[in-house]
Amino acid sequence: MPELPEVETTRRDLEPLLIGRRIRSIVISDDKPQPQAPVAAEEFARAVVGHVVEALGRRGKNLYLRLSNGLLWVIHRRMTGNLIWRAAGDSSERPRFERASIDLDDGAVVVWQDQRKFGTWTLTSSLDQALPTLGPEPLAEDWAADDLRMALARRSAPIKAALLDQTTVAGLGNIYADEALFRSHVHPLTPANTLSDATIARLHEAIRFVLQKAIDLQGSSARNHLGGLGQKGTMQEEWRAYDRTGQPCYRCGAAIIKLRVAGRGTHICPTCQPAPTLPAP
Ligand SMILES: [Zn+2]
Repeated sequence: MPELPEVETTRRDLEPLLIGRRIRSIVISDDKPQPQAPVAAEEFARAVVGHVVEALGRRGKNLYLRLSNGLLWVIHRRMTGNLIWRAAGDSSERPRFERASIDLDDGAVVVWQDQRKFGTWTLTSSLDQALPTLGPEPLAEDWAADDLRMALARRSAPIKAALLDQTTVAGLGNIYADEALFRSHVHPLTPANTLSDATIARLHEAIRFVLQKAIDLQGSSARNHLGGLGQKGTMQEEWRAYDRTGQPCYRCGAAIIKLRVAGRGTHICPTCQPAPTLPAP
């Protein structure tokens, strides 16, 4: 599932190609992407066709296009959604699982590919209204360790669950939560409100490090993610914990193990990320 780095990769790829372009038509070739109620597919097309893309933004795992009619077109890729730009006259084979295509006034086409069909498109006039519960952006300059400490202060849930909760911080999913916890030597079952200030500072640094590195490498493409030009990212080659069950820890050589935390497969080094000592009941 695309997380912050994958969505940011697509945003950066598409930004120079889409800004200033007028949307000529949209073909939705399936019942999905389902524009969220109450806007029906035809109504969705009517609302965006003829308008110019003025900006491409990202908030957490959401990509959005700001249109010249003031509307924001918010796209959540969920499991397998990709937006792939094709130049005018490109006669190469179109992406598989094409669910929609957006024709631009320069002849280019943006294809919406979504094998599992969980992706969503929403139209809104207010980002805050569409995404009211989203926490801070972890790569924003003003997101400090102290903000993370305050967000965790009253939460007894396992830290992994708290990081996946988009109200704590926006954009982390299973891959980068595991990678950040590994890098900061934190066991995912540690109750969030028991982490020391020093550990939170380490975790804060680790979150920013793994997300920035993943953006630099254009995301993780072990499964479905493709960038806006149809390219694969290479961050999967840099995973230290995620999906490495049974392989040696790069730091200490112990075998990475898989746990289940917050209902998600969770990968740790049992030596580098010692289990928390829980207070006696
Ligand atoms: Zn280790």
